[in-house]
Amino acid sequence: MIRINENFLKLQSSYLFSNIANKISQYQEANPEAEIIKLGIGDATRALPPACVAAFHRAVDEMAEDGTFRGYGPEQGYRFLRDKIAEADFQQRGADISAEEIFISDGSKCDTGNFQEILAGDISVALPDPVYPVYLDTNVMAGRAGDIKNGRYDNIHYMACTPENGFVPELPPESVDLIYLCFPNNPTGAMISKTELARWVDFARQNKALILYDAAYEAFISDEGLPRSIYEIEGAREVAVEFRSFSKTAGFTGTRCAFTVVPKDCMAYDSSGASHCLHALWNRRHSTKFNGVSYPVQRAAEAVYSSEGRQQVRAIIDFYRKNAARIRQAMDDLGYEYVGGTHSPYIWINTKSDSWEFFDRLLEKAGVVCTPGLGFGTCGKNFIRLSAFNSHENIEAAMKRIQKAHGALRAF
Ligand code: PLP
Repeated sequence: MIRINENFLKLQSSYLFSNIANKISQYQEANPEAEIIKLGIGDATRALPPACVAAFHRAVDEMAEDGTFRGYGPEQGYRFLRDKIAEADFQQRGADISAEEIFISDGSKCDTGNFQEILAGDISVALPDPVYPVYLDTNVMAGRAGDIKNGRYDNIHYMACTPENGFVPELPPESVDLIYLCFPNNPTGAMISKTELARWVDFARQNKALILYDAAYEAFISDEGLPRSIYEIEGAREVAVEFRSFSKTAGFTGTRCAFTVVPKDCMAYDSSGASHCLHALWNRRHSTKFNGVSYPVQRAAEAVYSSEGRQQVRAIIDFYRKNAARIRQAMDDLGYEYVGGTHSPYIWINTKSDSWEFFDRLLEKAGVVCTPGLGFGTCGKNFIRLSAFNSHENIEAAMKRIQKAHGALRAF
């Protein structure tokens, strides 16, 4: 008899985006004339940088000729891209990362979800709350979570991210084996300082733990003093794996290209305590289950590092930053407490009321869609996330509507 992996039965259904979609269609039916502005989505809205499009086209033309056609590429990615990443994203910032330590993939969602697969089933896991849901769900699938009570699983160490700790989790009081960190953060938009990150690296070294560091929103960091990579911290090579993506940097959400950095010094242990190189294990896993990102997509990603590509990427990020600044200004004017929007496209707003009730009021009174914070974890129950991924016109219109509907929105 064929049997299922029963851990999948423990997963909570992800009602977040389907609930939002249902509420929008109900509202639209009742108000057919209303023009809804969606600030809930975490997807890029600007076209690919022209330098990437040109490189993409050139590579497709190469595929059209026998002489330049390429079949299967290296599973780890082409050297032309890995070399550029190693130099521009790491070495130029003083982070000692080589091209061999970079694995090109089709997305950080898959990488952050898959990496736990090479680790033992009975390790302890620490996760921020609120959090990008992929980290939790993939650990539940792997059987690392116990029963669920009041929205939280037994055996998972939840690290509350609240206004009190500046949305940067505190070190766990006891040892944990696997730690997920994400900065700039989705959903809060919060950022971590080098000093705070160094504490996590020290903690991981002391406890022989591993940090999975998700830096998918690194391009939004606007302060040179903040760490763009965990490898800017001394000792991180021994205890951290980093995930990066071209999705939010260069609008590759539909084109798909990302990478994972696994330093050769990064170790994990077997049941006898003997150490093993995670790079070798991940290489084995990656080359067995993944067959590389398409050649044209890797050429398009490479163009991000050309001088035109850099300028174009900067212009796109600045465009979203301007939106984020407009949202922050509106929240300041209205007296809301919030975090994010400076080093991130997300603004995490304290509604001081139930996040779904606020969602309903915002849709009903202003025709604006947000993401209710509860969808990212119990600590998000009074927060909403607004996204800067939109046109200037829509952001402006949404902020004016929120300002007008202000009295009816606030529960405080
Ligand atoms: N990590 C975080 C924190 C994200 O918010 C997202 C997407 O929203 C991803 C990773 C996924 O990125 P990708 O498009 O590379 O799969």
